Amino acid sequence: MRIETARMVSELPGEAEPRPGTRDVRGMAWSATVPTPVSAPRLLAFPPTMAEELGLDAATLGSPSFLDLMAGNAVPSGATTVATNYGGHQFGHWAGQLGDGRALLLGEAAGRGGRRWEIQLKGAGPTPYSRRADGRAVLRSSLREYVASEAMHALGVPTTRVLSLVATGDAVVRDILYAGDPKPEPGAIVCRVAPSFLRFGHYELPASRGERDLLERLVDHTIASHFPQLIGPNARADWFAEVARRTGVLMAHWMRVGFVHGVMNTDNLSVLGLTIDYGPFGFLDDADPHWTPNTTDLPGRRCRYAAQPQVAHWNLSALASALAPLFPDAEPLTAGMNAYVEAFQSAQAQMWADKLGLAEWRDDDAALVSGLFGALQAAEVDFTIFFRTLAALEAAAVVDPVAALAPALYDRAKAEREAATLGDWLARYAARLATDPQPAEARRARMDAANPWVVPRNWLLQQAIDAAEQGDTAELHALLEVLQRPYDAQPGAERFAARRPDWAKDRPGCSALSCSS
Ligand code: AMP
Ligand code: MG
Repeated sequence: MRIETARMVSELPGEAEPRPGTRDVRGMAWSATVPTPVSAPRLLAFPPTMAEELGLDAATLGSPSFLDLMAGNAVPSGATTVATNYGGHQFGHWAGQLGDGRALLLGEAAGRGGRRWEIQLKGAGPTPYSRRADGRAVLRSSLREYVASEAMHALGVPTTRVLSLVATGDAVVRDILYAGDPKPEPGAIVCRVAPSFLRFGHYELPASRGERDLLERLVDHTIASHFPQLIGPNARADWFAEVARRTGVLMAHWMRVGFVHGVMNTDNLSVLGLTIDYGPFGFLDDADPHWTPNTTDLPGRRCRYAAQPQVAHWNLSALASALAPLFPDAEPLTAGMNAYVEAFQSAQAQMWADKLGLAEWRDDDAALVSGLFGALQAAEVDFTIFFRTLAALEAAAVVDPVAALAPALYDRAKAEREAATLGDWLARYAARLATDPQPAEARRARMDAANPWVVPRNWLLQQAIDAAEQGDTAELHALLEVLQRPYDAQPGAERFAARRPDWAKDRPGCSALSCSS
């Protein structure tokens, strides 16, 4: 793997000389920064698929020089390594300059077919954008990001990828619950890979400072490097509409697999429409549309499951405002916002048709979906397990809905109380299926291809973390293995596809998470 200076570094202005200290960086898209070495790096995991994409053979992956690179103990020769500059709206408020506080772009490498991949370390030490923090990451959060990225990719959800998970051998101090009780934890570095890590906030920052030249160069660089098919007289307008469309499609995917990002700020939304920055994320256990995994978000539940499409719309409108100076009038930006709504609605209709196994989506099917959430929430039914159970049922023949849905129930007594609601919904569904032309087998196959059998739930991740913190990565690898084929029922691996166990309900890391990572 030959890592060269990333195009965004060679094409955009930046601070070329590394220098210590945090600061406001104006008129620049990046700052040359070198990683800070760690004491005793150990390679805990690397994904075979990404290694293959980048042409890394077993000998390279096992070599000390690869480990040194992934640990930030060596830099690619000849490449300028940088932290990039961006701002963002956090929880609806403009936060000013944020930047890569603990991410470090090593450069760009060519994959299969000449595809370019940016290679980035997360947790490799302080940068000019670290503000008051240490630039490091704990094993807990790094393992979560590693597994989730792999899992989302296998689930068919656009995401940044990973190349390695390295334990640093150094302790990192964190106050998990912000309870004034900081503790040392094992540190780690994830190597992330994506065509680009550009976020909405990369454009918002120069716009907020009136740096029009930088803003234009950033937009044109993005189009030339990542959207070359759009080059032409309307490139900028087409690009915004494409960002909007991709974001809409991404939101439908998140809703489909029950993913809740937890920190949907404009610094955490990718202009490539990728899931980016796995922090206090979670997958729905019981189908509660108001659930958020992020304790910091609890007061307003801004990032709750059901609100994600609206938050993405809000974030896009913040991006549109930033881009406004580049257009003579608002029309292209309004068109882009409409493109978001259209893309999300059509992807959402398709995904619900797939989840429910309907050959075509009809307008009144939306009521079937809202009725479903009402019933599932009232009866406390597991989101993921419900759809697999539903696919295996003959809805018209169900006489006892509580028994039929038993594998997905958290509280049988509660479900008994809601038996009529569940039964009514199943009857409506059965009536709807009666008008659907597909044979039962085809319908089930279609549902099983849209509804995962297994997702990386927080308690599963926490079990892998507990073991890895004791030096045992067997659980991590077992989990990664199962998550490679998330739509296949895997006999012998049922414990990974189970409901959240009772012990996990209130344990930190298993249901609620803080941003402290
Ligand atoms: P996040 O909410 O994780 O996306 O992070 C928001 C901002 O805080 C970004 O600018 C990060 O780079 C920065 N940040 C988060 N954790 C750290 C850390 N440990 N050291 C330095 N910067 C950090
Ligand atoms: Mg972030």
